[in-house]
Amino acid sequence: MQPNRMAMPSKILEHVEAITQHRDTALLDRSMVASLAELIKVDGISLITLVPRNEGFLAATIAWNDGQGVQFQPDLTDDDFVPVAGYPALVKSLECQQPIEEAQDENGIYRYWLPVFLSDMPVACFKIESLEPMTPQQSEMVAGMLALYRNYLSLLEDSQKDTLTGLSNRKTFEYSLARLLMSLTVDSGTETNQSPERRAGLARDHWLCVVDIDHFKRINDRFGHLFGDEVLILVANLMRNSFRQQDRLFRFGGEEFVVLLRNVNIEGARKSVNRFRQNIENHEFPGDVGHITVSVGFSRINLYDTPATVLGQADDALYYAKEHGRNQVHSYEDLVEAGLLTKKEMHSDVELF
Ligand code: GH3
Ligand code: MG
Ligand code: MG
Repeated sequence: MQPNRMAMPSKILEHVEAITQHRDTALLDRSMVASLAELIKVDGISLITLVPRNEGFLAATIAWNDGQGVQFQPDLTDDDFVPVAGYPALVKSLECQQPIEEAQDENGIYRYWLPVFLSDMPVACFKIESLEPMTPQQSEMVAGMLALYRNYLSLLEDSQKDTLTGLSNRKTFEYSLARLLMSLTVDSGTETNQSPERRAGLARDHWLCVVDIDHFKRINDRFGHLFGDEVLILVANLMRNSFRQQDRLFRFGGEEFVVLLRNVNIEGARKSVNRFRQNIENHEFPGDVGHITVSVGFSRINLYDTPATVLGQADDALYYAKEHGRNQVHSYEDLVEAGLLTKKEMHSDVELF
């Protein structure tokens, strides 16, 4: 055994504690890479996150250690994701559900791919690079840490997901919106003046969309609650295929969903929400359900907004869509500008008058 390349048990416990203190998957990922880097001393560790997309998977590196410390990219955008086919060894490791050890490359690097599965679905893969082959002790340590990661990730995911649709749940939405609002405040503190882009009105914004299935009660009444549940699952799947990877999808409750669109201008937001609305309208649902529609209201997420303000504005736009024929998308900002909605000074969960 090479003493410098392995850690003492007390060190391991410290890392286990550091990893399991997180309630946020992205922070867990960073912590995991940092701990592995310290515990096994190799030349590079990356954590690649995997997301299902149209029969295949997309991959993006969320955290990595490259000798200069741990780098971390919690807010991945669509540009960061590439088809897994770009990593043949990773594809192989997913197919056989086993770690893959690549032969030493022309630079003398040994590369290991260690996939992580949750309920038979690949969710991540660790890539380990080393100028020396891993020792059995290192391999054992990695296997133990990966098991810890998988078990803890599974617990986290369970607490963040809606059990029916697999989308993120309402609690996670509240946390994500609060985090997004906080990041706007932090960013504004680092800018003394508005950027030229923002002054020109070209800035990319964040948007909150509230989606509500039209006349969903009729589906339950005609076909039964179980069929209604099936429709909710299919709507969630259509959402996954309609929005970009960087957008966040949530089941808010019942037949209502919420989408956080990030870094997009109003035209882009309108276009992507309308594309989703159309995908639902065109979809042939099984049995006698046939076609259904959704109404959507959305609103810009502004600096210093409270979650109740943004949600209230998107809800007002949704209510407008419902009142004016359903199967429509409206933005709060457009409606206010057109004089179709009056801007309220304050929104709160409880309307007093
Ligand atoms: P509108 O177009 O105005 O939205 O009409 P709606 O019928 O969709 O709206 P309403 O709020 O009257 O009814 C929503 C229904 O959604 C009532 C409830 O039984 C049903 N629902 C809520 N949660 C679930 C669920 O988890 N599964 C099923 N199957 N139905 C649900
Ligand atoms: Mg509703
Ligand atoms: Mg409804």
